[in-house]
Amino acid sequence: MNETTTAPARPTRQGGGDLRLSFEFFPPRSEPAMNSLTRVVARLNETGPAFFSCTYGAGGSTRDGTRETVARLLSLGVNAAPHLSIGADSQGAIFDLLDRYREMGVKRIVALRGDLPSGMGAGRIVHNAESLVRWIREHSGDYFHIEVAAYPEVHPDAASAAADLEFFAAKVGAGANSAITQYFYNPHAYYDFMDRCGAAGIDVPIYPGIMPITNLEGILRFSAKCGADVPRWLVKRLEGFGGDETAIRAFTTEYLTRLCEELIAAGAPGLHFYTLNRWGVSRAVCKNLGFGVSDT
Ligand code: FAD
Repeated sequence: MNETTTAPARPTRQGGGDLRLSFEFFPPRSEPAMNSLTRVVARLNETGPAFFSCTYGAGGSTRDGTRETVARLLSLGVNAAPHLSIGADSQGAIFDLLDRYREMGVKRIVALRGDLPSGMGAGRIVHNAESLVRWIREHSGDYFHIEVAAYPEVHPDAASAAADLEFFAAKVGAGANSAITQYFYNPHAYYDFMDRCGAAGIDVPIYPGIMPITNLEGILRFSAKCGADVPRWLVKRLEGFGGDETAIRAFTTEYLTRLCEELIAAGAPGLHFYTLNRWGVSRAVCKNLGFGVSDT
């Protein structure tokens, strides 16, 4: 028997106050997919986001795609933030890209070490995100707002939680303005991370990353790779829907709404959604949270 879920009635909250919203895309691989992303942007833009970001394949594998997607976003009149992964790129290639972005009117960069696509050899990554933040500051001064990644559940490469926090502190020390976390489904991971950041004197805003689940196998595969924990009870609940995508979407929307409500109540400064280029669950959660979406 498939399980069902019923959404409780929610009061409408007026706007998101000072909370910052942002949505992440990957570069579409074709013109029809780019056109479809334009429609996704229109739906998500109703929530009043601060920016839309676009991922970057380390090793330069999506350099053109990221730049073209950012150009399209800017042409739609929204703020766009390219991700920039240091990967195996040379300093010169990164400086060129920074200049191009500046000419295009980009004001925010998500600065990452990145993971090289399989087959390119992880050993070719010789720098980390701290170096990239330093290079951006060295080349462009304070022009860009720099976001970096944070890992409440600890990055898989880290020797320990303490060592991971030291690397995070170093990125902030190098000039990052704020951070976006890897996604997590247990809010206590974020609370604990925020406590540890506070104790270490790290005071930049840290925005929780929120990952909708529409495909259980896909999320389990990706989570195993990036070190995100999908709790057993959540896996069991999702398995109970037997692949019924409508039911999974309804359940995920409710679960993520509660997660976001708790994070906001605990002081999260905003939310960053990993949209996977879809608007459904992200927009529905934002609507539940009162971010200016009136229809269904
Ligand atoms: P870093 O901060 O440099 O390092 C991550 C961790 O590795 C550190 O916390 C530390 O524990 C360890 N480490 C780093 N340097 C050393 C060292 N010298 N010695 C020992 N340990 C070290 N990937 C992409 O390819 N493209 C994207 O667009 C992209 N966007 C992302 C957006 C967000 C918000 C997040 C959270 C992740 C994103 N990623 C992306 C994934 C990210 O690139 C990977 O998690 C990568 O493995 C680490 O990148 P980082 O910038 O966090 O690296």
